[in-house]
Amino acid sequence: MHTTALVLFSGGQDSTTCLAQALSKYERVETVGFDYGQRHSVELQARLVVLREIRAQFPQWAHKLGEDHFLDLAVLGQVSETSLTRDTAFKMESSGLPNTFVPGRNLLFLTLAAALAYRRDLQVLVTGVCETDFSGYPDCRDDTMKAMQLALSLGMDKRFLIDTPLMWIDKAATWALAEALGGQALVDLIIEHTHTCYLGDREHRHAWGYGCGQCPACALRLRGYAAYAAALSKP
Ligand code: ZN
Repeated sequence: MHTTALVLFSGGQDSTTCLAQALSKYERVETVGFDYGQRHSVELQARLVVLREIRAQFPQWAHKLGEDHFLDLAVLGQVSETSLTRDTAFKMESSGLPNTFVPGRNLLFLTLAAALAYRRDLQVLVTGVCETDFSGYPDCRDDTMKAMQLALSLGMDKRFLIDTPLMWIDKAATWALAEALGGQALVDLIIEHTHTCYLGDREHRHAWGYGCGQCPACALRLRGYAAYAAALSKP
């Protein structure tokens, strides 16, 4: 029986939905975030605001929500050159991957999260990776997650479960999942306080939240919200 979890929590829409699901599913939940010099560092502030709002607005979850951990991963900026950590434009590389891809990022995140979960005695690692709205990131694939679960469990001689609630759903379904978990209050919290935009834009407010509206992350969030809202207005 799995009752304790560590959520990889960035302060974005996906990881906030994952956190809500973990809080409705597990008895004790902690969060971990990573600072790897991402240029949307505004998300690092967003994550603290989201945690505060969840504690304030959802008393049924607040008592389960434990410590927040924050790890400095500046080393990732030293080994990779991508448009997330450097001031370069978004484009597709000849490899077929967008230049927002940080090689090995999720593998590193999960390894560190597992080491932390080991110390904190938490059984499940929850991550918002997804194959459906496929950004082309190979370290978000279900097979990669299964391989990591096995490698971490063997390598630390402790049985870890990697829980990926968003793996097979699209962005519209992610909004619907948030609504199912926390009602309109959670949808509103996600719109107002989570951050997704790669450019760190907190000036432009849209129906789906803040962002430049142009970058790949905004485009995905915008499309998903439009599809979710359209489904709601159907008779
Ligand atoms: Zn944007």
